[in-house]
Amino acid sequence: MPDLVCVSREDADQFGCPCCGRHDTFVLLDAGATRRLCCRGCENNFVTLADGVDQSSFSITVGPEQIFPRVQRHPLRRSRKTLRVM
Ligand SMILES: [Zn+2]
Repeated sequence: MPDLVCVSREDADQFGCPCCGRHDTFVLLDAGATRRLCCRGCENNFVTLADGVDQSSFSITVGPEQIFPRVQRHPLRRSRKTLRVM
């Protein structure tokens, strides 16, 4: 299973890279709601989707596969207290 983390753009703005939490990223692909970023800290790729979008409208190549990234909970979200109720 390809490992490409996908989070909402809001979460990425707030919590940074899903792996290390850095905000130092650069854009690899920017196509409407879908944005693929690379972290300068851990060199991991991840995808962000615009608010209200829960799945990318087109596929992204990850190794030998094409996947349609779906928004998942930001991995670092649970490490901080948040009062936001979904
Ligand atoms: Zn990182």
